[in-house]
Amino acid sequence: MAEGRVVGIDLGTTNSLIAYMQGDSPVVIPGVDGSNLVPSIVALDPMPADGSRPTVTVGNTARKALIETPERVIYSVKRLMGRGVSEVQAELKLFPFRLAADVDAANPNEVPRIQLGEMTFTPPEVSAYILRQLKRNAERFFGAPVTQAVITVPAYFNDAQRQATKDAGRMAGLEVLRLVNEPTAAALAYGLDREKEGVIAVYDFGGGTFDISILKLKDGIFEVLATNGDTHLGGDDIDNLLLAIALDEIRNDYGIDLRPHADAVQALRKAVIEAKIELSFKDTTHFDIELPNGTRYQREIPRAVFEDLIKPILERTAVPCKQVIADAGINPEEIGEVVLVGGSTRIPAVRRQVDAIFHLSTRGKKPHTELNPDEVVALGAAVQAEILGGSAKSTEDMLLLDVTPLSLGIEALGGVVARIIPRNSTIPASATEHFTTGVDGQTNVAIHVLQGERELATDCRSLARFDLKGIPPMSAGMPRIEVKFLIAADGILHVSAREQRSGKEAQIEVKPTYGLTDEQVESMILDSFDNAEADFAKRLLIEARLEAETILAAVERAPQHPAWQKLTEDEKLTIDALKSVLQIVSTGEDANVIRSATVSLDQATRRFAELMMEEAVTSAIRGKTMDKAGEDLGDEIQAPHPMAAAEFK
Ligand code: ADP
Ligand code: MG
Repeated sequence: MAEGRVVGIDLGTTNSLIAYMQGDSPVVIPGVDGSNLVPSIVALDPMPADGSRPTVTVGNTARKALIETPERVIYSVKRLMGRGVSEVQAELKLFPFRLAADVDAANPNEVPRIQLGEMTFTPPEVSAYILRQLKRNAERFFGAPVTQAVITVPAYFNDAQRQATKDAGRMAGLEVLRLVNEPTAAALAYGLDREKEGVIAVYDFGGGTFDISILKLKDGIFEVLATNGDTHLGGDDIDNLLLAIALDEIRNDYGIDLRPHADAVQALRKAVIEAKIELSFKDTTHFDIELPNGTRYQREIPRAVFEDLIKPILERTAVPCKQVIADAGINPEEIGEVVLVGGSTRIPAVRRQVDAIFHLSTRGKKPHTELNPDEVVALGAAVQAEILGGSAKSTEDMLLLDVTPLSLGIEALGGVVARIIPRNSTIPASATEHFTTGVDGQTNVAIHVLQGERELATDCRSLARFDLKGIPPMSAGMPRIEVKFLIAADGILHVSAREQRSGKEAQIEVKPTYGLTDEQVESMILDSFDNAEADFAKRLLIEARLEAETILAAVERAPQHPAWQKLTEDEKLTIDALKSVLQIVSTGEDANVIRSATVSLDQATRRFAELMMEEAVTSAIRGKTMDKAGEDLGDEIQAPHPMAAAEFK
């Protein structure tokens, strides 16, 4: 039953992933290129000559456009989600993309739009493209539509940022059943909710951000005690440092300044990232780059040298960790478990740093590293998705809840905040407070919804305003106004106000002041997305044909391979027959028929693939490297990857 499956999504700053529950364990769904990580990069293809709408690409394809058409590429859009024009402008100082020229920076309600080539996009739209790509990957994998998801967000995301994430889901054709805090998801991936009680630290060191969260688990409910971090600290800083060193060395030792050459710098960046990753599991790395004048920049970097270089960067994670422990009001010794999240926690020096901060080895403890650190958030989202999807085994599992990160209330007389839902309340939450009027004959009451911990309204974040009108004139203090706050399971706040004597009522689903309106979201869905059934069928057909073409091309080349001669005549005839079948059906219109013919041909060629592998291994032993042998094989037969797992109806 692939239909109706709820997926879990980690919509990351650097990389995004989609996962689902396969039996009892969460599994990440790979993209067409076989990779589990989809880089959170979106690019606009060149404008077609006929003036039609340019295509949007996502992930590794979009990354390639960074060199050729950087003005049509956007990354790190998560930083811009749910933020006002002024906040976005400050953030953009660090990035090459710009706000659209016609964005009114003076209007506090303006939704920022980013210029991409000749078009402009709001941050939720850009995220929607990433989500749509993930959704497509999952649909391709299941062979069925995917329409419901759980999406993770940083624990510190405020209501506006959460709402923007939800809007992005909707634009991508996904119903977002729940937004889950990333650290909560990581703890879930490790099944820590089964422990019943304890204090957990989640140390998330990703590409561009560092987050540290302290969770308290009680009766299967995670409460975020405190979060801290650095919104501009991550693997990118390590890459930038290594890149700067390499550029300086090349200039000093070879007299070549690569900095003005964007593509050379990009190639060098790629090389330093590869070197960094290699140093996570090797004692030394080596890079070798051809320079424009034909000479080579060659450099050996022992791990010890690398660790010295990055020490100041890693030390920057210690300060927020100390702060978060203080804010949570706990002793480091009370932290029972530490979960490592984020690709950069693969670096051994980072693990040592974590050990030192949380006194782990001295307490005979180890951090959780059993799962891939860049996958754990998505895996946890899949666990939550399964629970919400209704297949949880016990009602106890269903109770798994999240909490509100900040207090919610309204502005009362004198500009003070009347708190209605305190921070860390479990979601769904609802609370009611009663108010009255301050002036005789007052018929309207302004309800100003606020988020934050401060006492004065001006120091809190304004979420929404609405008026309760038409109260019959009464003396001050007579009306009885009931204000009800409800945070639904999806994390979205609904506020209603009702004057109980007259029955007058007003309510609002809280949209942040500069959030998108329902109409805007709706029009963006129509503008940019194709959710129709017909489109889905068409896409499946196109993909099925592509897979068929790939395997047909490989089979076409097969007789030239020495391994072919080792097949029996029968085997060769079967392959030929199935090849003809696939050639015929792949011109047809039925994706399922094409796929099953592709599977049959794939199975018939399995022994050939094994023989080829043997051949490759033998020649590797004869002198070629194993790596190269692997590559040869990869070129020959492209397994039509997810088909084995797909279910056909
Ligand atoms: P985000 O949560 O910010 O989207 P990820 O958790 O996917 O990011 O982490 C991406 C970062 O992890 C990148 O800077 C990448 O270079 C780094 N990274 C991935 N694998 C390794 C490794 N083996 N060693 C060091 N850094 C790594
Ligand atoms: Mg992440």
